Amino acid sequence: MKVFLETYGCQMNVRDSELLGGILRQEGCRLVDTPEAADVILLNTCSVREHAEQRVMGRVRQLSSLKKTHTVKIGILGCVAQHLGENLLDSLPEVDFIAGPDSYRSLPELLCSVDGERTALCRLDKTELYEGLPSYRPENSPSAFVTIMRGCDRMCTFCVVPLTRGRERSRPWQNIVDETKQLVQQGAKEVTLLGQTVNAYRNDDVSFAQLLWKVAETGIPRIRFTSPHPIYFQDEELEAIAECPGVCEWVHMPLQAGNTEVLARMRRGYSREDYLEIARRIRERIPRVTLTTDIVVGFPGETEVQFEDTLSLMKECDFDAGYHFKYSPRPGTYASRHFPDDVPQEEKQRRLEQVILLQSELTRRSNEAMIGHSFEILIHDRGKRGPDQWVGRSRGNKMVVVESNKSLLGNIIGVTIVGTGRWTLRGQLG
Ligand code: SF4
Repeated sequence: MKVFLETYGCQMNVRDSELLGGILRQEGCRLVDTPEAADVILLNTCSVREHAEQRVMGRVRQLSSLKKTHTVKIGILGCVAQHLGENLLDSLPEVDFIAGPDSYRSLPELLCSVDGERTALCRLDKTELYEGLPSYRPENSPSAFVTIMRGCDRMCTFCVVPLTRGRERSRPWQNIVDETKQLVQQGAKEVTLLGQTVNAYRNDDVSFAQLLWKVAETGIPRIRFTSPHPIYFQDEELEAIAECPGVCEWVHMPLQAGNTEVLARMRRGYSREDYLEIARRIRERIPRVTLTTDIVVGFPGETEVQFEDTLSLMKECDFDAGYHFKYSPRPGTYASRHFPDDVPQEEKQRRLEQVILLQSELTRRSNEAMIGHSFEILIHDRGKRGPDQWVGRSRGNKMVVVESNKSLLGNIIGVTIVGTGRWTLRGQLG
């Protein structure tokens, strides 16, 4: 059976697709590069924003035209499947089956389902951690994702993740260490530890900070993690980032909003002052840190004055980069049921543009400060402009482009920064 698998959304979904690829290959399926060549098309989806969900719907309608010319099944996997459940089968008659993030072990049975029999597998499972399954990871990639926990217990009022990925559970630390050792043997130079609230990790009394040290003992040169939640940051974690040679100096700490009342309505569990204090401790303990964030504008009831608090907090934290979004109500969440979506679209757009503009300026300054200094870069890809161009990332997760007529792929090299573009830096070997 030939299967085309397309992935949307976060790194967690990218990692889940590697797992799906492993399950499919174990069943004797072949992964193909185009939907036209496939017997089964699988979309691993994201529902964190309305726009992401609509993209998937549009893609299904586009792909369904293939059904006119040959026999092909379409399956929707992941968060959209979990979020919309059987309603999805009603609204998209082209879809043959759906499976939520905790149902992937049943994928082989779904593929073999009888034509015309439409199935929905959307039961959340408090214990599913997908241990003992094969993965299909991209060959020759020096970087790999390792999921260390699944689900989330925080229930932020705007967020659909607890509804689509269920309760928080951590993988056994020994399995994470073993998986990393295997990756090292396969040539990986960097792992990114993944979880919705990655620093809430706990297994057998092993905390997240202790896990960082244990993973570092495997000899992997670089360890990243995403995304930590501000309220779980402990001094021992900052210690691990500062002192453990393998742990990169990059912290992506979602802010969401800079005003305490808005944060309370979001049920984030911290105030503006708390966030500023954590950011101050991070910058003090890890002087070379790159601090990045997520921000949502136009949350219900957000006034102009409250929005300005977000801008001023961005300046105070001096974020190096960020992801920025307009609020969209997600059905089933507390906010969608209790708070009217009362910030007009044009106003959300204006606030978003202001945030992006400010961040561009902060990023420009942060990049310019790197000029003339040396950094360690892990080259993970070829550049787009010519065969001698290579793209890598600094330990602080800044993208750097270098020229070399020898292959640098997978190497960790010393580079001096000589210039900056809007998002990327230019470096010279040595
Ligand atoms: S911490 Fe909040 S925003 Fe993050 S996944 Fe959990 S519920 Fe969603």
